[in-house]
Amino acid sequence: MARPVRIAIGVDLGGTTIKSLAVDETGIIAARASRSTEVHAGQEQVVRNLAATVHDLIGQLGQADVSRGAAMIQPVGVGVPGVLDVDKGLVIASPNFPGWEGFPLRERLEAQIDRPVVIENDANAAAVGEQWRGAAIGLKDFLFITIGTGVGGGVVLDGRLWRGAGGRAGEFGHVKVVAEGGEPCGCGSRGCLERYTSAAALERYVLEAPLGGGTSDLKRLAIDRPDAIDPAVIAQAAATGDEAALAAYRQFAAYMGMGIAGVIHLLDLRHFIFGGGVSEAFDLFAPRLRQEVAARIYGVAIEDIHLLKARCGNQAGSLGMAHLALAAS
Ligand SMILES: [Zn+2]
Repeated sequence: MARPVRIAIGVDLGGTTIKSLAVDETGIIAARASRSTEVHAGQEQVVRNLAATVHDLIGQLGQADVSRGAAMIQPVGVGVPGVLDVDKGLVIASPNFPGWEGFPLRERLEAQIDRPVVIENDANAAAVGEQWRGAAIGLKDFLFITIGTGVGGGVVLDGRLWRGAGGRAGEFGHVKVVAEGGEPCGCGSRGCLERYTSAAALERYVLEAPLGGGTSDLKRLAIDRPDAIDPAVIAQAAATGDEAALAAYRQFAAYMGMGIAGVIHLLDLRHFIFGGGVSEAFDLFAPRLRQEVAARIYGVAIEDIHLLKARCGNQAGSLGMAHLALAAS
């Protein structure tokens, strides 16, 4: 008799929403669930919400999948933003979860769902998701970069997630790109790449841009209604050739290019996968980014460097956590 197909649960714990998937080992999504994170309601409520999405998925799977011979595996994977101690199952520091320093997330969730839990940094999880089902299929070495409210990274080397000495590798957003007088960062340092390439950075470039000849509709909007400026609006403006929008992407590309060139020299990586909300505009910034990388690398031909748009969208993290749960079972 054929071995039953295994199904794993992968959870993406976001600052506002918990997104959970039940995924079989071939990568087919069998069920999905989501609910509000409710960070403001405290740690125990967040853990209850996590447990509720897991129970929701188990309930949804129920008879149909069991009758076709599917087997739900025990471990549940949870991707968490911030710095974690993955071995101990602790949150070390997470800007989205103030006051969670040292919180034993794994232990608390295990107690609620009566199953083992695997935790991993959310960008690392998304890197695994893209490797399993997205833009990095078949790649052994790459950097996944997520660009949104913050900038995160996940390094895959020789086919495996590179966790570093303490599971904290891939904090690409906190690579320093400004030596003196840089923008203060949530990590406590200054001049971090994140402060120059996140969604907020793009908005800042537009808001701080000089009016110039006054030909930019985006800049006029920024003056009249600064709250209306967001990455989607900037992307729309850039697509129509708006000068302030294009200038913002040029600044973004210069700093991102600096970061990527550093990684190329350190690790000789050739593939870079761009995810997160800001990367929806990948086609707008990629040509300029390519030029910026080309201007900063030595000994490697730009033709050998592949900048790629992620394909799993906001499911990358939960897909990756399901994959890590399968690997742990
Ligand atoms: Zn930082």
